[in-house]
Amino acid sequence: MGKALRTVNADLHCHSAFSDGTLEPEVLAARAKANGVELWALTDHDELAGQRRARDAARALGLPYLTGTEISVSFAGTTVHVVGLGFDVDDASLAAGLAATRGGREPRAREMGEALAKAGIHDAYEGALTFAGNPELISRTHFARFLVERGVCADTQEVFRRFLVEGKPGFVPHRWAKLGDAVRWISDAGGIAVIAHPARYKLTPTEDYALFVEFKAHGGRGVEVVTGAHSAADAQRYAGTAREFGLFASRGSDFHSPEESRIDLGGLPPLPQGLTPVWEALEPRIQAPA
Ligand code: AMP
Ligand code: MN
Ligand code: MN
Ligand code: MN
Repeated sequence: MGKALRTVNADLHCHSAFSDGTLEPEVLAARAKANGVELWALTDHDELAGQRRARDAARALGLPYLTGTEISVSFAGTTVHVVGLGFDVDDASLAAGLAATRGGREPRAREMGEALAKAGIHDAYEGALTFAGNPELISRTHFARFLVERGVCADTQEVFRRFLVEGKPGFVPHRWAKLGDAVRWISDAGGIAVIAHPARYKLTPTEDYALFVEFKAHGGRGVEVVTGAHSAADAQRYAGTAREFGLFASRGSDFHSPEESRIDLGGLPPLPQGLTPVWEALEPRIQAPA
């Protein structure tokens, strides 16, 4: 790759219009390249439909690529995200697991529409669907964009705060995949499972510890240390978790859209010293340009 793999500008977490991002895979690839990304992965929620287009676009730009996804799982009464990297994109069990996970989204979205109607906001399901590039992947983000368009809130952050988080009128509890299942789908497909943005979960210190104990027991091998939602202090905290649990460290912006995302592709600080980047362990899985 021209320079030490350890120090490349890797961005291994972002979303296209195949989930809740607004850009097409080719546009993301070009943006990553222009921003100095040297190793890239598209990690759409519960979906692999954008993988080939992302890989082909990256290849044409001379940008090394790792396959990716971000799986929604339920743990300790909350939703946790597990990023999978470097798996075989044609693996049948992974595809089946993701299809089952996606299957819960439509009924959940209809319930969200009903819940919002009770709060005086009508036709939100139909409205959110017009924002979903992939109807199987209708998410809270699409509802948030619709409520901004309706003029109910000024921005998507405000929609989440007022309507879409636990205890608010549009929140519908949902049962996602099991942690162990998601980790196995990724690992059995030849990839590495990574706990995404751990500082975002409202877990007690005991639950946070239990998450990593259970994750490792199922074969999980990585933790996202540097990511869009993490402060410098969060990165230091989860660098400690990586050392304590012997996990590889990952780095990814979690970029969704130019209008909504605070951190652009390639715009993150480096990993803290002394960690082993997950992309070193995945070196044989990197798809190099021709
Ligand atoms: P879902 O998978 O439908 O539950 O939607 C989760 C997505 O909503 C996440 O992947 C984020 O993109 C987005 N999200 C979650 N919380 C917030 C928030 N507080 N502000 C903005 N976006 C959020
Ligand atoms: Mn998202
Ligand atoms: Mn996430
Ligand atoms: Mn994400």
